[in-house]
Amino acid sequence: MLPERSDVVVIGGGVIGAAALHYLVELGCRRPVLLERDTLASGSTGRCAGGVRTLFSDELNRRICDESIGRLERFADEVGQELDLRLWGYLFLLDDPADAARFAADGARMLTPGEAHEIVPQLDVDGLVAAAFDERAGYVTPDLVVQGYARRAAALGAHVEQSCAVTRIVSEDGRVVAVETARGRIATERVVLAAGVWSSELFSLPLERERRHMFFTEDAPGFPQELPLTIDFATGFYFHREGAALALGGREQSLDDLAPVAVRRLPALAELGIRSSWWGWYELSPDHNALIGAARVPEGLVYATGFSGHGFQQGPVVGEHLARLALGLAPVFDLSGLAVERFERGEGRRETNVV
Ligand SMILES: Cc1cc2nc3c(=O)[nH]c(=O)nc-3n(C[C@H](O)[C@H](O)[C@H](O)COP(=O)(O)OP(=O)(O)OC[C@H]3O[C@@H](n4cnc5c(N)ncnc54)[C@H](O)[C@@H]3O)c2cc1C
Repeated sequence: MLPERSDVVVIGGGVIGAAALHYLVELGCRRPVLLERDTLASGSTGRCAGGVRTLFSDELNRRICDESIGRLERFADEVGQELDLRLWGYLFLLDDPADAARFAADGARMLTPGEAHEIVPQLDVDGLVAAAFDERAGYVTPDLVVQGYARRAAALGAHVEQSCAVTRIVSEDGRVVAVETARGRIATERVVLAAGVWSSELFSLPLERERRHMFFTEDAPGFPQELPLTIDFATGFYFHREGAALALGGREQSLDDLAPVAVRRLPALAELGIRSSWWGWYELSPDHNALIGAARVPEGLVYATGFSGHGFQQGPVVGEHLARLALGLAPVFDLSGLAVERFERGEGRRETNVV
């Protein structure tokens, strides 16, 4: 049964909604409700590579991700769920001297192509000018993070409702008064909109969407066990270990198109069969930085989406931020520069280190 009213309703059960729900409870909100149209982590979060890193061009993203990684390291203690966080680094392969200069200026640990080859002996480093190694980086299973947050919040009184789509955010006199769902209405003055790429169906936001595919190989015993998440920065092709196998992805929209790009940098892939694949949506903003803030109208609505490929790793910090905004508490991070009004003011802040 859906409750008739709630102090805060969270829309969407991906990493952002689940983290927001967790922090709402931690910050003293009694019985917040999370409504998920399908099942928890069934959107972009469950389809993502689970990568976490600190090498961003926008220093705010560096700080958000550094703090989020810290929270993932403490997750078992703070949230009660063991994670499989593998901080084996991110290796950015660079073929453009301008990119290399930018990464170096951002303080990255720079390597020669030969040093990159020592870390991943299967690489073809021809044409590379440098590599940037991000040591405080790696990946984790996204589903564990979402389930951990949701389970903990539910144990402390939150209500999680799956298979329950929100059809409308209802407002009167410029203020949120309720959400309507396919299964009834919940009266509320505060809504956390965390519906990923679908957020703009409920509230106007400048969001574009793009399919991103991932492929999983058969076992790859010859590769280093503690393989960094390795990215060919110019093409967006990346790979990491997935158990005994490899996971790989890129911008191409089919395996036929990705294969030549991937094999060019990693010839050993030509010998490995592909066992499975999936795809998910990237939620893109105009400047490839997140859209996070409180709506001017209707009052009571806070939102976060548009992460442009790095939303999973911002979940812990952004979830807390949304919970604080919804409860009227002082934020820990000043994320006001990420509010959607930046585009009206012509103050887009481009993140260039996107994968
Ligand atoms: C292939 C791929 C690889 C990626 N790799 C990385 C990576 O390595 N690192 C990283 O940080 N990010 C990565 N991302 C991006 C990351 O997945 C997203 O930025 C992040 O998961 C967004 O989380 P979210 O909670 O905002 O959205 P979602 O996970 O999409 O959650 C939104 C939820 O809202 C629900 N919903 C939608 N509409 C409604 C409604 N009307 N009512 C109720 N519920 C609704 C959906 O069912 C969904 O579960 C990747 C994405 C893809 C596709």
